[in-house]
Amino acid sequence: MMTSVLFQRARVIDPRNGVDGIRDVLVTDGRVAQVSEAPLVAPKDARVVDATGKWVVPGFIDLHVHLREPGEEGKETVLTGCRAAVAGGFTGVVAMPNTKVVNDSALVTELVLSRARDADLCHVYPAGAITKGLKGEELSEAGELVGAGCVALTDDGRPVMNAALMRRVLQYATLFDVPVMVHEEDLTLSAGGAMHEGATSTRLGLRGIPASAEVAMVARDLVLLEETKGRLHVAHVSCEGSVRLIREAKKRGLRVTCEVAPHHFTLDDRAVGDYDTHAKMAPPLRGDADVKALREALVDGTVDAIATDHAPHGVSDKLVEFEKGINGIVGLETALGLTLALVHEGVLTPRRAVELLSEGPARVFGLPGGHLAPGSPADITVVSPGEEWTVDAHRFYSRSRNTPFHGRTMKGRVSQTWVGGRCVFEDGQLKESR
Ligand SMILES: [Zn+2]
Repeated sequence: MMTSVLFQRARVIDPRNGVDGIRDVLVTDGRVAQVSEAPLVAPKDARVVDATGKWVVPGFIDLHVHLREPGEEGKETVLTGCRAAVAGGFTGVVAMPNTKVVNDSALVTELVLSRARDADLCHVYPAGAITKGLKGEELSEAGELVGAGCVALTDDGRPVMNAALMRRVLQYATLFDVPVMVHEEDLTLSAGGAMHEGATSTRLGLRGIPASAEVAMVARDLVLLEETKGRLHVAHVSCEGSVRLIREAKKRGLRVTCEVAPHHFTLDDRAVGDYDTHAKMAPPLRGDADVKALREALVDGTVDAIATDHAPHGVSDKLVEFEKGINGIVGLETALGLTLALVHEGVLTPRRAVELLSEGPARVFGLPGGHLAPGSPADITVVSPGEEWTVDAHRFYSRSRNTPFHGRTMKGRVSQTWVGGRCVFEDGQLKESR
């Protein structure tokens, strides 16, 4: 049933296995069969892909995606989110639990997984809520959630303000060896704020969110982590202070990992410009010193993964005054272009960029994939690194259009996305099974 595929003369970048060079890659029965410096002979009936000038890399994995189903299907569904994912080169996404029926039970986890099976495009890994209804009051049943297929616990969208509860979930999660993923925001410090507290917020007359709203919570959770010996994953790190604390904690051997979103390493608070709600997110776009610190942390290994925080919203959610604008932007279809901008600027090596999109996220959440060793699932992204294109939000596969990057020219594009040896996206077109 499954045919073979031979990628010829690709630049294969596989950080985990130390590969960066011209190779042929043979895929059979949905798995990587051979990666060879010498040209391989195509088996009979194999599809041959001439990958000259292209990169063949492990499929990207996004640790932070809001698919909005169940409950807000007008913004996104598991199906439309998976379409956006494979169009962006992602072969796996972690679905946040803050849907309008919160994923705090096996029932909701199973629903998301069944929608993902129906979509049949990429892997969807649900994350379960730390607290019931994301209310921050009572722990949900972690055992039930993990048993149903959740790969992490998080109240993302909201912080866990109660330190005792946070301490308990860090302890409890060690029983299941899943990471506790945190949205770090001290609500008493961010209250009433609409953007980063700095010169721009002063100029615009908007209430600011100080960096301490994030950094103080990172500090608290690192203290709790040390005491509990748990696993902490800090979502969407945005400030220099957080980076410094996480770097130091890693040096001391704490089990902390973190992710950075493309918008946070690309834009600073000046992007809010003239009250542009497409530059409104939580955590907010920070100052230029923070952007510089995030870039250094991407280079030196403090950051484990680039994750998009893909947050679809309707037009009416953004067509309001800035303070009332809802937080978040879509990210799946612009992540590669923004990451490659760092490569073209000489900030990241191609190898490090690929690592941050594939091997890093797979390792952090213990997910399959992230590398191309023989026997591993053939989840593969083919990249045209030099191809220029202009972001047109109206052509997104996502159901939502909220992006500050509409009209931006990108260099580097997804050419093909393969999941389990099947081509699901090619040259701008989806290849759906139905
Ligand atoms: Zn968040």
